[in-house]
Amino acid sequence: MALIVQKYGGSSVADAESIKRVAKRIVDTRRAGHDVVVAVSAMGDTTDELLDLANEVAPIPAPRELDMLLSSGERISMALLAMAIHSMGFEARSFTGSQAGMITDSQHGAARIVDVTPVRLREALDEGAIVIVAGFQGFNRDTRDITTLGRGGSDTTAVALAAALDADVCEIYSDVDGIFTADPRVIPKAQKLDHVSSEEMLELAANGAKVLYIRAVEYARRHGVLIHARSTFSSAEGTYVLGEGMKNPREAEGAVMEEPIVAGVATDFSQAKITVAGVPDVPGKAAEIFKIVAKSGANVDMIVQNVSATGRTDISFTVPKADAAGALKALAGEQTEVGFQNLIHDDQIGKLSVVGAGMRTHSGVSATLFEALSAGGINIEMISTSEIRISVVLRDTDLTEAARTVHTAYGLDGDAEATVHAGTGR
Ligand code: ASP
Ligand code: MG
Repeated sequence: MALIVQKYGGSSVADAESIKRVAKRIVDTRRAGHDVVVAVSAMGDTTDELLDLANEVAPIPAPRELDMLLSSGERISMALLAMAIHSMGFEARSFTGSQAGMITDSQHGAARIVDVTPVRLREALDEGAIVIVAGFQGFNRDTRDITTLGRGGSDTTAVALAAALDADVCEIYSDVDGIFTADPRVIPKAQKLDHVSSEEMLELAANGAKVLYIRAVEYARRHGVLIHARSTFSSAEGTYVLGEGMKNPREAEGAVMEEPIVAGVATDFSQAKITVAGVPDVPGKAAEIFKIVAKSGANVDMIVQNVSATGRTDISFTVPKADAAGALKALAGEQTEVGFQNLIHDDQIGKLSVVGAGMRTHSGVSATLFEALSAGGINIEMISTSEIRISVVLRDTDLTEAARTVHTAYGLDGDAEATVHAGTGR
């Protein structure tokens, strides 16, 4: 008998029918003899709808009240799910984040979990109940207020519960079958991975893969939680995300697996490029520029500086599209102080990343990428690398074709087309 934490995303509990389907799945797990703790997201697009409502009554909703409002979405789904389970003859008890002991810092809208004290959950489990916890929310001890963890935060709730309760596995259910070698909506020949290391998963998530949230993967990595990403719509096994020293539970004892060099290809259409042109080529200018950008709240990703022949240089960087306007405005305000000549905004870029832990020990991985792009006649605008990733910025109109070409070049194409349940990936 195991303790299993299951997380169901908004698309898995979008309506009454889906809630009943999820209830059945939970009851099946219980029938198999396991203790079950469930973290659940708000139904369908509830969170977006609540956000819209808030914006209709106030241009900038008060953060404390916004968290009160948004946290109610998960209270609806948790109670309905518990009712559905009751009606199947099983005992279930729902808990808000604060009842579940999800203690966070006081940052409304982006709170971090600092402690989990699942006393009531343990009691309920000991009494034989199935435990349902509202995802995405917590409680701050100093302010005594309700907080939320940021969009997609229910993944983190699930992983934090799994860590605190020392669960055997944290199953994250969505409308996709697991982690793929690429987004199957972009690359139909993408294959489901049997497992992926958490460091590869972090790079994939940071570079456009949306199946799992970065914070949840980081939390799992730090606390040694085994994640199993799988689909609500099938009983097939999904993908295990393995932390340091963890073994794929599906592998035979003692089997040594040959790891592929490249785990996957990620695509990201969400970035924009800003070029600060004609920057005086003297020490301190990059510091000035990126201090201004940081103060605007923009999150910088790639940076490239050109060589200068004339005593002036161009510095280009990428930021999320939503951050670009703020960064441009901040920079324009300091143009004379910094002494650059002009600003260029380009939001028609796409980013392609190749991720694989095997890059540490194998050479030629980047050559394969550049050859594939060159054969496809695709122009590269920026390049950046980490130990286990190579990323390039391209025209956004080239990204899909480039990703397919590169996916083939690394031998990642599967024989059959991946099944895509017409969902959102959550
Ligand atoms: N309901 C929240 C959101 O839509 C949290 C989640 O789904 O994980 O962002
Ligand atoms: Mg949601």
